[in-house]
Formats: sequence, structure tokens, C-alpha cells
Amino acid sequence: CGIVGYIGENDSKEILLKGLEKLEYRGYDSAGIAVRNESGITVFKEKGRIADLRAIVEDGVIGTAGIGHTRWATHGKPNRVNAHPHQNENERFTLVHNGVIENYHHIQRDYLADVQMESDTDTEIIVQLIGKFVEEGMTTEEAFSKTLGLLKGSYAIALLDAEAEDTIFVAKNKSPLLVGLGEGFNVVASDAMAMLQVTDKFLELMDKEIVIVRKDSVEILTLDGEAISRLPFTAEIDM
Ligand code: GLU
Repeated sequence: CGIVGYIGENDSKEILLKGLEKLEYRGYDSAGIAVRNESGITVFKEKGRIADLRAIVEDGVIGTAGIGHTRWATHGKPNRVNAHPHQNENERFTLVHNGVIENYHHIQRDYLADVQMESDTDTEIIVQLIGKFVEEGMTTEEAFSKTLGLLKGSYAIALLDAEAEDTIFVAKNKSPLLVGLGEGFNVVASDAMAMLQVTDKFLELMDKEIVIVRKDSVEILTLDGEAISRLPFTAEIDM
């Protein structure tokens, strides 16, 4: 399983698909990508191999921000509906997740009793909860950090907001995730190998940080909103 993301000036689809192919070695049963442009977010997902995903991705849908996922099912059988990305009820938010949310039942019961779930995954409550908090008046950043504070378990998460300028919201806890730095673009990946195609400069992320990735900036914050500064490292891996 694995996660990728791209945000920049060019179309994200090919970089995402190539990145997912590099993560194939980690094992998966389904895969998906979501791309964002000014008219909204489009999701493509499919059970099976990256080649099966490639076959349904439409060349004409261009997005300068995108996220991708290979799934190794833990909750909900491997099928198209349970494949990531997942969206909240009004489809403003789109999210990919690796890991296991141990308290998803409690969150569903306590916060989301009135929300119709689309999938059988533990993941969907994350994006539904962010959507709910935003509807109640929080900013995306506030809703993201409040949600992270409620989650128990392991996660690597990348989130798109249809209504924010191109931004990927990122966080991890006990699952690997890196941000890769480029000129005029930035990327996200579970493993540097997935993004050596475009950069060898990476930022390590620590558990329970909020990371706001735009094409020309990366902001790392604590859950309380305090800025953290960190220097990149150079990945030295033979491709
Ligand atoms: N627990 C999530 C699911 O079953 C994510 C699995 C993964 O890490 O790929 O959908």
C-alpha cells in the first residue's frame, strides 16, 4: 500500500501513476487517483492493478494538484467502492489513507450518526468528519487538526479541498510519509523511491504534524498551529 501526491504547474496524472507503479512492490489490491482543477475534483479508482487504473483514467481531465493511493484492504473488502480516494457527502473533500483507524466505530457513532457512508472502510470517517467540521464553520486547517486529534491508530493521509487554491493537506502517525521538494512543484510519497522521478530532496515528517503543501511552499505545523522549521535531506538511492 502507498500514497503519492503532486502539486505544481503541470498535469499531475502521469506523475501520480508512475509513482504508484514504483510503490507496487509494497502490495495492493486496488488503486485510485484524484485530480483537482478550478471546476472541481475528479476521482478515478479501480480494483486490481495500476494498469487497470490507467485504463480508466481520462486523458482529458487535467489537474495541477492530485493524490493517489494503492490499497491493502483492512476494513471492507477489496472492490471499487472501498478503493481510495474517498469523499465526504458534498464531495468538497477528497482523501487517501494508509493505515488503520482503530476507533472509527466510535467516531461514526459520536459525530457522524446522520451521515450516509458510501463505503465499508475505516477511512471514510476521516473525510466525512473533516467535511462536517467545515460545515459547522471551521476552516479546512482547523477541521483537519481537530479530526487528527480524534483519530486513534495509524495513518498516512493526503487531502484535497475543492474550494482551496491548489493545496494538499498531509499528516502521518506511525505510517511512513515524506514531502518531496521541486522547483515550482512539490510532491508527497510513502517512499522516496516513488518520487525520485522528479526530485531527490525530501522533508521527513514526524507523527501528528499538519503539513500544508502548495506548489511553492511547504508549511509544517503542530496540531496546535505552531510553525516548525525543518531542513530537507537528499535521497541517495539508485533508481
Ligand atoms: N484501512 C484502510 C482500508 O482498508 C487503508 C488500508 C491501506 O493502508 O491501504 O481501506
